[in-house]
Amino acid sequence: MKRLSLLGSTGSIGTQALDVVRGLAGTREQITVEVLAARSNIDLLERQVREFHPRAAAVVDENAARELALRTRDLDLAILPGMEGVCEAAAWPESGIVLNSVVGMEGLRPTLAAIDAGKTIALANKETLVAGGSLVMGAARAKGAAILPVDSEHSAIFQCLQGSPGKAAVKKLILTASGGPFFGKTKEELAHVTAAEALRHPNWSMGPKVTVDSATMMNKGLEVIEAAWLFDLPADRIDVVIHRESIVHSLVEYQDNSVLAQLGVPDMRIPIQYALAYPERLPSPAGELDLVKAGNLRFFAPDLSVFQCLAVCMEAQKRGGLAPAAANGADEKAVELFLAGKISFLEIGELVAAAVEAQPDSPADSLEAVLAADAAARAFVEAAVGRG
Ligand code: MG
Repeated sequence: MKRLSLLGSTGSIGTQALDVVRGLAGTREQITVEVLAARSNIDLLERQVREFHPRAAAVVDENAARELALRTRDLDLAILPGMEGVCEAAAWPESGIVLNSVVGMEGLRPTLAAIDAGKTIALANKETLVAGGSLVMGAARAKGAAILPVDSEHSAIFQCLQGSPGKAAVKKLILTASGGPFFGKTKEELAHVTAAEALRHPNWSMGPKVTVDSATMMNKGLEVIEAAWLFDLPADRIDVVIHRESIVHSLVEYQDNSVLAQLGVPDMRIPIQYALAYPERLPSPAGELDLVKAGNLRFFAPDLSVFQCLAVCMEAQKRGGLAPAAANGADEKAVELFLAGKISFLEIGELVAAAVEAQPDSPADSLEAVLAADAAARAFVEAAVGRG
């Protein structure tokens, strides 16, 4: 039986992961929830605790942690407060697998804590690899900790690589992108889009940060960097194609020009379950794919002149060092400012590009260096916006 620490249990990935756990309950492959971790949504966390009976619950917001402790006095539940608590949840002795679906750079520390404790990591926090790729992959190799992708594209590639004779057999990876709500639009048309429009994703239901990232295609840029680290390939062997239907989740092209793809309905519970049950294939709560109903599967080249964020990420990965950490930090700040109505949609890409340019070339060889580059990029964006 697998024992799980679920970090980010009240978010979009977290709630869908618990749906997967529910689906496997009572089967031979059932998953026991050992620890849940959330930021501050203790109303939902309390319901999850009462349903899944974990031994501990981590809450980042310390006031919320105290409140949860009061509300759960009747339960035998340890409360782990603060980011320290989330790291404790990641290294929880009884857990074998950690699903990290914390949003943003904050997920890096718990990922390192889980690796250090020798856990298997189901990784849904892409920022972990974008900002700290060399640290994380280096530590995982040293500890022999497996990192299993949860992101739908990376899960697709991981699935297409099962049975591959090795990296030398792979010519390139092809990541698919839905193109988001603004596919086919010109820069002029995007000048005045609102946060509400950017939050309307055609195919996937996700949290606000990743939905805006999907509209700017920053999300795909982050995923190129994530793929480069996960599969140990340079960014120039990772292509991006727009695929409007979100049925083909990504592909691997082999040296013999044979291309393998993974298909399915756009439902995150499929990649989440694959990571949690790996290498098993079990019945899923997600729907079946009806190819006839899907009808046409269309593919297009992305327009890098409109979706600047994607181009900047590819460039940042080629530059290496702290450039990807700067791109990620700048984007987190810029998206926050966009959602607050303080900057325009196109300014997100302009600010990310400028912050990456301002980042000096230096290696991402320590957590301190990565966190400093992240903070500098955020400060750069804030200062640039403050100047108007
Ligand atoms: Mg994705």
